[in-house]
Amino acid sequence: MNPWILLSTVLVAIVLALWIPRFRLKRAVSAPFPEQWVEILERNIGVYRNLPMPLRLQLRLLIKQFLHQKHFSGAGGLEVTDEMRVTIAAQACMLQLNRDSGLYPRLKYIIIYPSAFVVSRPEMDQAGVVSHGSKGLLGESWQNGKVILAWDNVLNGARNFVDGSNVVLHEFTHQLDSETGSADGAPLLAGESSYRSWAGALSSEFGELQRDARVGKRSLMDHYGATNPAEFFAVATETFFEKPRRMAKHHQELFEVLKSYYRVDPREWQ
Ligand SMILES: [Zn+2]
Repeated sequence: MNPWILLSTVLVAIVLALWIPRFRLKRAVSAPFPEQWVEILERNIGVYRNLPMPLRLQLRLLIKQFLHQKHFSGAGGLEVTDEMRVTIAAQACMLQLNRDSGLYPRLKYIIIYPSAFVVSRPEMDQAGVVSHGSKGLLGESWQNGKVILAWDNVLNGARNFVDGSNVVLHEFTHQLDSETGSADGAPLLAGESSYRSWAGALSSEFGELQRDARVGKRSLMDHYGATNPAEFFAVATETFFEKPRRMAKHHQELFEVLKSYYRVDPREWQ
């Protein structure tokens, strides 16, 4: 083949390879948000009706992008439905409101089990898998682009958005955490001073939760957060979104650091 024709063909192929995914994403995000999806949000996401309209609209755009980019599959005989996809996407995207840092760029797959699933693996292994649950697992976050969830727990957590327990918020916090390359309780932040504030607030609160857990003292945050800094960040995020008033009152510095990171104030819709 003539080398110029070959070069032109390769260039056209490269341009198309870059352009087609962007075109498809733009088309997916600009499509109308289906009425059935609104019904799912109103039925399943306890906090959705309380969100200010600009945040509701923003959430819908993020959901469309999330559903376009991430692949869902069922396990343990489960057949994935739109209700599952929208309910999971909505909660994952709550962590991305008012942010412009990419919608979990490393995440490709969400695998859903009907209920708690069992794996034989230590809680945090060499591959960077962070598991959550006691007997059977309720969720698992992999650094190689995968989140695994138990649907019955997802639904309970979504409908009850005030008890401080939410497996989707939890596992997707691990995804944010691992964007630095390791899930260690410190996500990507804006600058050195942000890291200092983050480390200051989270390490002292983590120490306090560890002391509470050791002596069996009740605390606002689940004692599971005392396991390690990554679990603390995930549990603190659940508390921030579901019990914001109490967190702001009793853990003010931690609340402010998380508010600045997530760029929302959940007290406004509680
Ligand atoms: Zn966890």
